Amino acid sequence: MLADIGLGIFVALIASNLFGIEVSAQLVGISVLFALLPDADFLVHAIAHRKVGGKYAHVHRDLFHYPLLYLGIGGVFAALFGAVWFFVFMAASLAHFIHDSMGIGWGIKWMYPFSKKISKLFSTKEGDLSMNASATWSEEELEKVAEEKGNEHWIRDVYFRWHPVGVIENVVFIVAIVTLLYVIYG
Ligand SMILES: [Zn+2]
Repeated sequence: MLADIGLGIFVALIASNLFGIEVSAQLVGISVLFALLPDADFLVHAIAHRKVGGKYAHVHRDLFHYPLLYLGIGGVFAALFGAVWFFVFMAASLAHFIHDSMGIGWGIKWMYPFSKKISKLFSTKEGDLSMNASATWSEEELEKVAEEKGNEHWIRDVYFRWHPVGVIENVVFIVAIVTLLYVIYG
């Protein structure tokens, strides 16, 4: 989540550069919102009282985590508001999906509705972190791997211990904040 906020800030800074517009609170706020928005399906699940935490954290990625549908439909709506917001929506959403395809979790269904396969970068098929591997699972395969290798305490282990993914995510967030402050006040 912190990394998504950082990515949203970077998208705002890039948009400001590309379109020659001011880094306003509105631009940064909406970029960050778009970078977080796909995870709203987590809330939908939580409200429906389904198992969403721990080992089952990947299960929520089934409403807005279909890049082809989300970017296709959302992109049409965003385009109604002009080139800047189209760019911000597409870049922030894409950043979110790429972020979800590495690090924590089990990746996403990039080719849905054409394929239900779930893909993830920097992971072996057994779910171990590896810099020179990527994995693709069917829903059934992933169910097994998540059951076997899923970490019930991933939030604690990744974000509150010295875990490489947690460290990188925090660095992305901090660099984004520092860059934003530099652009505004520097
Ligand atoms: Zn997500």
